[in-house]
This record gives sequence, structure tokens and C-alpha cells, in this order.
Amino acid sequence: KAYIDRINVFGFKSYGERYLSIPLGEGFTAIVGPNGSGKSNLGDAIVFCLGIASAKAMRAIKLTDLIFSSKGKTAPYAEVEIIFKNNGAFPLNTEEVSISRKVDLSGKSTYKINSRPAKQQEVEELLTLAGIPTQGYNIVTQGDIYKFVKMTPSERRDLISDIAGITQYEERKQKAIQD
Ligand code: ATP
Ligand code: MG
Repeated sequence: KAYIDRINVFGFKSYGERYLSIPLGEGFTAIVGPNGSGKSNLGDAIVFCLGIASAKAMRAIKLTDLIFSSKGKTAPYAEVEIIFKNNGAFPLNTEEVSISRKVDLSGKSTYKINSRPAKQQEVEELLTLAGIPTQGYNIVTQGDIYKFVKMTPSERRDLISDIAGITQYEERKQKAIQD
């Protein structure tokens, strides 16, 4: 099974205008720290890099809001690189798989796969082949549990169907009934 080994960031949200490498490794990782110290920003970094694209999902109005800014000083760009241990999950013959995304001050965003420029669609396809579909429910964000508790039983069932991968068959079934 593939897993995220480390995340390299530059100029992303509160991480500052410097290169940082955040080790995750296999299994369970807990990130602790005081309020506002950047715990959720790490989740946002993952969402940004893996192309689950809307700015709202990262608690930003536009992509350029993701670029580090403090006391009138703004980084020239924000970049997040996620390094997976491949373990045969990705159809690439490298031990590690690197996916990175960068956004500059003009709002232009670019991706790389193993250091080569790539289209967003290629990143999505690669992740889907590795069993990490970008439209899937991979990240539980702050407030999601509250929403889950507040849902109607049928909304909750729909969400569970999505996670379990049943929705796609349900959609096909509905289409077949219609035709
Ligand atoms: P909590 O425990 O309250 O959930 P947290 O550790 O999850 O806190 P985050 O939401 O990750 O905190 O970080 C919030 C901090 O990130 C805020 O202080 C905010 O000012 C800072 N921040 C967000 N965007 C930027 C940016 N573009 N430049 C600099 N700092 C930013
Ligand atoms: Mg938080």
C-alpha cells in the first residue's frame, strides 16, 4: 500500500517563505499544536497538492490566498510536494512518487509528477489508478463530524455509499433503468 512519506512545503499559508519537510511515514500520524499553529493548514496543503481544487475547500477565497503573507511581505509562490512511497500502488517504476503543485502570485497553478510538468488531469488519473480518487472522500475536515451528526438518515446513507464506493454502481443502475 502506498503512503505519504513526507510533505515538502514552501510559502504555503502559515508555513512561511522557507523550505520545510514534514515527515509523516507509514501508519498513523498525529499532529498536535496550539490553536492557529498550522495543523489544519497541513490538511489544506494536501488538498491543494492532490488537486481537489476549489479554493473554498482550503478555506481560501482564491488560490493566491494560499501564498504565505505576513506584515506586508508575501512569498513569490506557494508550493507543496507530496512524496508517496510507491509500494506498487502507482503505475510508475519509481520507489517514491512525487506529486507537486505550485501557485504563483498571478494565480497560475502548475503540477509536476516526479519533477516533470504534468496536467491536472494526469495527476487525477495517476491518483485514481493508485486508489486515491480526488473526488473521493479522503479527508475529514474540521466540522465534518458535526455535519455528519446533524445529517438526515438518508444524507448520511448517501455519504456512506460514496465512501464505500457504491454510489458509482447506483448511478449506473439508475441510468440502466432509465434507458
Ligand atoms: P485550530 O487548533 O484552531 O484548528 P490550527 O492549528 O488548525 O488551529 P490553522 O487553521 O492550520 O490552525 O492555521 C491558521 C493560521 O494560519 C492563522 O494564524 C492564519 O493567520 C494563518 N494563515 C492562513 N493563511 C495564511 C497565509 N496566506 N499567510 C500567512 N498565514 C496564514
Ligand atoms: Mg484546525
